[in-house]
Amino acid sequence: MATTSLDLAKVRNIGIMAHIDAGKTTTTERILFYTGVSYKIGEVHDGAATMDWMAQEQERGITITSAATTCHWPLDDIDHTINIIDTPGHVDFTVEVERSLRVLDGAVTVFDGVAGVEPQSETVWRQADRYGVPRICFVNKLDRTGAEFHRCVDMIVDRLGATPLVMQLPIGAESDFKGVVDLVRMKGLVWSAETALGEAYDVVDIPDTHKEAAEEYRGKLLEAVAENDEEMMELYLEGQEPTEEQLMAAIRRVTLASTGAEGTTTVTPVFCGTAFKNKGVQPLLDAVVRYLPSPLDVEAIEGHDVKDSEQVIKRRPSEEEPLAALAFKIASDPHLGKLTFVRVYSGRLEAGTQVLNSVKGKKERIGKIYRMHANKREEIGSVGAGDIIAVMGLKQTTTGETLCDASSPVILESMEFPAPVIQVA
Ligand code: GDP
Repeated sequence: MATTSLDLAKVRNIGIMAHIDAGKTTTTERILFYTGVSYKIGEVHDGAATMDWMAQEQERGITITSAATTCHWPLDDIDHTINIIDTPGHVDFTVEVERSLRVLDGAVTVFDGVAGVEPQSETVWRQADRYGVPRICFVNKLDRTGAEFHRCVDMIVDRLGATPLVMQLPIGAESDFKGVVDLVRMKGLVWSAETALGEAYDVVDIPDTHKEAAEEYRGKLLEAVAENDEEMMELYLEGQEPTEEQLMAAIRRVTLASTGAEGTTTVTPVFCGTAFKNKGVQPLLDAVVRYLPSPLDVEAIEGHDVKDSEQVIKRRPSEEEPLAALAFKIASDPHLGKLTFVRVYSGRLEAGTQVLNSVKGKKERIGKIYRMHANKREEIGSVGAGDIIAVMGLKQTTTGETLCDASSPVILESMEFPAPVIQVA
């Protein structure tokens, strides 16, 4: 049985947020498909393997109902673990929504390319601000009649008061939408006209028709990043072109620093495509890994003493620290029965051990621990800080309660849910 010690720098705990009908489900399904294909089967171009996987999935149905689904995405040939936390669809500030927001480190906001920023998009945006969640945007449905990428970008400014970093420009529009210009790499990413699920894209030179716009928007991107990042500002003032790595690192820094605190603007990289027509999702996955925080970027989670709620206790995302974990969702699995979804903030959680539920003041025995994937579940022996898994067999614990080391008790969730402190390197 796997006893996973993940390299935390290669973990992303993310949520996907959207106004209803913007394409959250479709985008999530495509993410699970692409990550499943690339990780389990290896070759995206291997048509037969892809079909097998799809046939299997069609029979069973892709599980996206899990409170946290783990998938893997290779970026520059390095495997990354992405835990997708299901943020409930309803928009009111319910405890359940707030709790799911609390356990994620970053988010993808999906917009409908025709409707743009809708009322519920504003609501989820404000919620993400409240929890200090850095985010990237995906303007979806660019294949639809009436879709306009730039109008949506303008709405991100006008309605959300955010600073969008336009990362891509669409190539073609509506039914003729073919792909995007990548403004960091200054390349075109083009999908074939009838893109099947699982198909890769071609990296091409920027089409002549888009060269001028690409130069203009690249200039705007550099300027916007420089305005928010000192290192980039220095290069900018010296008239130096940043390298690809420098630019990506600066975009990551400004995204992570954008935690929606009052009086600040949220700087957010914006991508586009059509999830339904399978264009744009693979670069979006690259962006999740590139620009959204890892658990290590969250310097510490704040909790408080069991007896004195005024006494703040901080826990760093490290296995050297005592165990502190938050139960955020209880679900009923058709095969396993009751499952408690837990985010481990510090220390290690081990199957078969006793831990303290510090809210109830009761000992709990940790049963089996599972990592939930789209098409299977994997039993693991223990799990470390920064990770999100499901635990079987918890009898006393309800959502919002802390599981911790009995010798170092802490309560993580207070009524105000303080935002985590994001470290900006
Ligand atoms: P959710 O409510 O945000 O989860 O939205 P869904 O993913 O269920 O999508 C709502 C509707 O829009 C469904 O009928 C999808 O097939 C459709 N849809 C999603 N993405 C796209 C897209 O990129 N293009 C088009 N034309 N339709 C889409």
